[in-house]
Amino acid sequence: MSDQLGFDTRAIHAGTPPDPATGARQVPIYQTTSYVFKDADHAARLFGLQEVGYIYSRLTNPTIGALQARIADLEGGAGAVCTASGHAAQILALFPLMAPGKNIVASTRLYGGTVTQFSQTIKRFGWSAKFVDLDDTDAVKAAIDEDTQAIFCESISNPGGYVTDIPAIAAIADGAGIPLIVDNTLATPYLCRPIEMGATLVVHSLTKFMTGNGTVTGGVVVDSGAFDWSASGRFPSLSAPEPAYHGLKFHETFGNLAFTFHGIAIGLRDLGMTMNPQAAHYTLLGIETLPLRIGKHVANAQKVAGWLEADPRVSSVTYAGLESSPWNATAQRLYPNGAGSLFTFTIQGGYEAGVKLVDGLELFSHVANLGDSRSLVIHSASTTHRQLTEDQQIAAGAGPDVVRLSIGLEDADDLIADLDQALAKATG
Ligand SMILES: *Cc1c(COP(=O)(O)O)cnc(C)c1O
Repeated sequence: MSDQLGFDTRAIHAGTPPDPATGARQVPIYQTTSYVFKDADHAARLFGLQEVGYIYSRLTNPTIGALQARIADLEGGAGAVCTASGHAAQILALFPLMAPGKNIVASTRLYGGTVTQFSQTIKRFGWSAKFVDLDDTDAVKAAIDEDTQAIFCESISNPGGYVTDIPAIAAIADGAGIPLIVDNTLATPYLCRPIEMGATLVVHSLTKFMTGNGTVTGGVVVDSGAFDWSASGRFPSLSAPEPAYHGLKFHETFGNLAFTFHGIAIGLRDLGMTMNPQAAHYTLLGIETLPLRIGKHVANAQKVAGWLEADPRVSSVTYAGLESSPWNATAQRLYPNGAGSLFTFTIQGGYEAGVKLVDGLELFSHVANLGDSRSLVIHSASTTHRQLTEDQQIAAGAGPDVVRLSIGLEDADDLIADLDQALAKATG
């Protein structure tokens, strides 16, 4: 959609003209697995990638297509591919880049599930990750070797809400001739558009703020369309002849849509991590109100974080929107609309107090999720980080006294009152 239109307009209209078949104004849920071919020649052309169209919903579906178009527009990308979850999106993003023996350089500050995926599961594909503190740009440069295929980071990171200097990392990736992949889940394109800052690929867990109400899991990979996959021999899946399509070269054939076509024609076709049309429908509805919601999430988070920081029962608060945060200057420079609404705080009284606080809260739901309209809480040391030693918990920002909050859309004063009474019970 036209760049002339503002973000709020595009959040509602991008990718979703009236349904061409019926005129339906809301995007219909195309609950179908397959599509009738016009004739045998049409079928053959679709299967040969000589014509774009619908074959089977593991590959493409109009409801999911509308969501892909809207997200690609909001992120400023050339194309997007949706997946069944955020974790699936991460594998789909890496798949065309990687091969046995190849590695990625990944931030140390990542969602815990991503640390596990990158440190354990991808090893079974013969891939590996080197974890580096991305604030140390010399260490990032030093970690890149001839088998490094990408740098991976989160814009705003889970669980601490720390922010990444994306332009600085993108410049390093550029210099090395490799793509930067940014997980933009916590920021959403309302707070951060990584492609405008030099990233090549953006991934999301749509499960969180993009859908915004804790209803469905989903993910997406957005491609900037700007990376030259043929500039070196480093990315043969995109630049060299593809045996599964009679020697077709994706980059040469599809240009700035090469990564997107590969994600559908090879990734979804053979890995099958496809989103379903119902999930796409919920996410399309969620994105319509994204600008309104994220503005309120941020305002509430700023208020709650400030209140917590001033409370003597609280030792520290990690929110990058606070002046006390080491990331505050970066947040103000690169994330002018706010530093999201996920952060942690440490409670006086350690593990016992953390557990009691979670049990004492009434409005906050104790769940392993974030980015809901409801405020959420989790005590990581007794749940998500339970299998780690105390030293490992502390290194992951999930020490025994750490409580993670995802601030929702309620009245901030009600959230503060709930924290106040639960802190009294936990530390009294
Ligand atoms: C939740 C989350 C993921 C994983 O997404 P799922 O939809 O749960 O698979 C990845 N990155 C971040 C930052 C997340 O918060």
